[in-house]
Amino acid sequence: MNERFLLMIPGPTIFEPSVLRELSITTLSHTSKEFIQIFDETLKNLRKIVFVDENYKTIILAGSGTLAMETSTTNFIKSGEKVLVVSNGYFGDRMIELLSKYPVKVDVLKAEELGSRVETEKILEKLDEGGYSLITVTHVDTSTGVKQELKSLGKEVRKHHDETLLVVDGVCSVAGEELYMKDWGIDILFTGSQKALGVPPGLAILWLSPKAMEKLKETKSAYAPYYMDLNRWIKVMEAYEELKPSYFATPAVNLIMALNKSLKLILEEGMERRFGRHKILSKAFRAGVKSIGLNVMAKNEDYAASTVTAIHLPQNIEVQQFLAEMQRRNVIVAGGPYPNINYFRVGHMGPVNANDILATMGAIERSLHKLGIPIELGKGLSETQNILANEGK
Ligand SMILES: *Cc1c(COP(=O)(O)O)cnc(C)c1O
Repeated sequence: MNERFLLMIPGPTIFEPSVLRELSITTLSHTSKEFIQIFDETLKNLRKIVFVDENYKTIILAGSGTLAMETSTTNFIKSGEKVLVVSNGYFGDRMIELLSKYPVKVDVLKAEELGSRVETEKILEKLDEGGYSLITVTHVDTSTGVKQELKSLGKEVRKHHDETLLVVDGVCSVAGEELYMKDWGIDILFTGSQKALGVPPGLAILWLSPKAMEKLKETKSAYAPYYMDLNRWIKVMEAYEELKPSYFATPAVNLIMALNKSLKLILEEGMERRFGRHKILSKAFRAGVKSIGLNVMAKNEDYAASTVTAIHLPQNIEVQQFLAEMQRRNVIVAGGPYPNINYFRVGHMGPVNANDILATMGAIERSLHKLGIPIELGKGLSETQNILANEGK
């Protein structure tokens, strides 16, 4: 395969060369003054991108997003408690599976069909039954490209459900979708490095609200496995923020340096502009694929995520065949985790730009054409171009 290609899957995604270069720098001692400063700055900048103050704790672990899923929940449970999981797809289902391994009662609210979502009203009705210690929601389910409403859910949980912690899986949304952790009343938020944060895979990142910290005192991380014990990790993070060396398990030094670099680029762009860019690019892309007769899985524009789009393929096209044609055109897109559904997914997050969107749209048209689908070449491109131009891109 060519070394130069477009990685348009929903994570890992496109990375800035300056971020990648951090991985080739001579590794610093994790207890050196230089690295402690980088770690401190990284923790502080992580607060900025989700709009929280210093009363919120930030934790960086070596591991993938799934580690963050497990850490963000198992530290906050006590035996026999009731938890509510909202699922709009594969990653919501993963949370059900994960929590089922622990001594809690797992109640589930599932979207009626893929591409749909559980509405906030329905979630609030369920919460009114009372007694939930945690509710978990996936902000963007990467398997369907569906975005969950969070703003009013969070505000209602804060107002009426003091006993409940709102846990948000932001792996496919943080730094790509609008998300205001404090304002929206989110108690526990987590992400992974390889999605909209624009850093290669390997870091799990968590943010905890003061309310989450209170609960942590009560649970004492009793059901969190050894490496995932947040009570230990918080001490390490606090030491770094006091510019003191500390150790529990070795941090992923170069990945944290890459994250530090990426956060600087993110803050330089500005969060509002970054959210706006993701919104416009994804809207132009969805309009393009719809104009050539393909169906987007998200039921409507309001549900559609800005970071990933799931698209149904024509019945007579095999997904593997399609992915291979795309790859021949140097664009890598992904299949989906549902083997019975003939669809593919495109990630458009992080440093993605209008050129990437157009190249992807063009490759989709030529791949379908090659596979014998009668489409008018240039129609999707034209639609995408028009929206991009109208939006000043
Ligand atoms: C990718 C993803 C995960 C899992 O992250 P890994 O890094 O693959 O472990 C969890 N939730 C969502 C929404 C994701 O997109």
